[in-house]
Amino acid sequence: MNSIMNKFSLEGKSAIVTGANTGLGQGISVALAAAGAHVFGVARRSCEETAQKVEALDGKFTEVMADMSKLESIETILTEVKKQTQRIDILVNNAGIIKRCDAIDVPVEDWDSVIDINLRMVYFLSQAVAKDWMADGKGGKIINICSMLSFQGGIRVPAYTASKSAVMGITRALANEWAKHGINVNGIAPGYMATNNTAQLRQDAERSEDILARIPAARWGTPEDVQGAAIFLASAAADYVNGYTVAVDGGWLAR
Ligand code: NAD
Repeated sequence: MNSIMNKFSLEGKSAIVTGANTGLGQGISVALAAAGAHVFGVARRSCEETAQKVEALDGKFTEVMADMSKLESIETILTEVKKQTQRIDILVNNAGIIKRCDAIDVPVEDWDSVIDINLRMVYFLSQAVAKDWMADGKGGKIINICSMLSFQGGIRVPAYTASKSAVMGITRALANEWAKHGINVNGIAPGYMATNNTAQLRQDAERSEDILARIPAARWGTPEDVQGAAIFLASAAADYVNGYTVAVDGGWLAR
């Protein structure tokens, strides 16, 4: 491999990917493992399918069971991962939930559960991992999974919009403070992707048609579509990329 392509290699690195059992987290786990990383996939449910996909590529995958709605899980995750690797190099904050409801009717419990997983956990897991990186002075890469609703208001998902707009905000805020420690904090904003997250939306014929008609690429995205951006932002090729959120959206935001 020539030296420029070597910069994209994740050989010898360890990565935590939250929400690794399905959807975009599965796609990202497979990509980072294919690029050489040992992936620690965090999930509440079995990651067997992800593990099989990684193993088919001769990659390394370890499942870590944790509930991302509880901050106590941070210690569980880091303790488990550190038993099996000397150092975490990459953190992908992917786990997230969405609750659809007219803004006027959103119950407090739904608001809190979305903010807890999508924002509060992202912040404090990043903080915990960055403390280790500052202590050893070797830096690392954080990739936050944002959304089109980091840029736009959305319809019937106000807590999700609040969380994802804030995640893009903290991506910039953390990058500003941590870039000097060799920590790159960046985001990926997927467009409309065919995963569980959008199953309900895709079942609504009218909304589904409206969305598709607005996507310049004329198709919904897939977990494979975010793989290149994830490898790039996790790698040395992105060493001078700080606080930026890359849209992988088939042109949605350009429209
Ligand atoms: P998904 O519903 O298939 O995946 C969500 C993941 O989060 C799953 O792995 C799930 O197990 C995990 N998760 C949820 N709650 C958890 C908890 N309490 N503990 C542990 N894990 C938990 O949907 P997806 O589309 O793959 O979503 C992945 C990320 O991408 C989310 O942050 C989502 O908001 C974001 N996103 C998705 C789209 C899209 O169109 N699908 C667009 C933009 C952003």
